[in-house]
Amino acid sequence: MRFRALSLVFVCAAMAFAQKTDKKKDPAEIGNRKVATGPNFFSVEKELALGQQLALEVEKQAKLYSDPILTEYVNRLAQNLVRHSDVTFPVTVKILDADQPNAFTLPGGHVFVATGLIRLSESEAELASVIAHELGHVAARHATREATRERIAGATSIPLVLLGGPIASLAARQAIPLGFLKFSRVAENEADMLGLQYLYDTGYDPSAAVDIFERMEALERKRPGAVGQLFKTHPMTSDRIAKTQKNIDQMLPARSEYIVNTSEYEDIRKRLVSRREKPKDEKRPTLIRPSEPPANESFRPEKDELRP
Ligand SMILES: [Zn+2]
Repeated sequence: MRFRALSLVFVCAAMAFAQKTDKKKDPAEIGNRKVATGPNFFSVEKELALGQQLALEVEKQAKLYSDPILTEYVNRLAQNLVRHSDVTFPVTVKILDADQPNAFTLPGGHVFVATGLIRLSESEAELASVIAHELGHVAARHATREATRERIAGATSIPLVLLGGPIASLAARQAIPLGFLKFSRVAENEADMLGLQYLYDTGYDPSAAVDIFERMEALERKRPGAVGQLFKTHPMTSDRIAKTQKNIDQMLPARSEYIVNTSEYEDIRKRLVSRREKPKDEKRPTLIRPSEPPANESFRPEKDELRP
């Protein structure tokens, strides 16, 4: 009798667990489920304040890409994804002027996307897939949950949620200690899994996530370090790509139509590429400053060979 009661408890627990797990993997449950469960020493207010502080630090140390049209476009794209996500924080996306194809997320919904990533992407769906991954970190509050975990384990650092990271150079300049940059693979997998659902629910083709992951992996294999040193802790492995494909097959019912690209994305990308070339002002004589490096040297696109 006791055994039967005990097994009933186990069965109920197993069912509850299965239900919980399924909810997280069911895109129909987006917005109606808790994805940021587990210990967290940071209240939402504290996380917002911490994020604000760290974002200011990044903006002080890194170079933001000042193009209001590009920034507005990427933010609009992100807000559309937010509406199809579990995110409860206000999200702001800032563009970093950095060649490495990276994106990362600070606590409290501060997402940074490097221009190198926009250049590496080949469609709006691909760009959206990376932002959706970052929104997975935001929704699951990975930064503060990981910080809580580390604090429990005796460490005092606050990890930044990274896909790769121009932030690595910030760490090198000691703006943010490198100890902050480690992030668990479990969190990365979860962000991949949630991001795919947000991408899909917004109407994008989820296989775009596989496409850009593959391009990152190819780039990393061809030129180790190109994607970012922090890929050593969160590698873009064939295993991660296979897992993403498996998630698409198992979690997302196939649709007859997806958004893959838009003309706006094409315009924005062209604009980004053209802005790398030094603008010519034909009305004025050209001043040659010997101290300046030649335009072609300093502004040469790094990923030319990757473009179709
Ligand atoms: Zn990530």
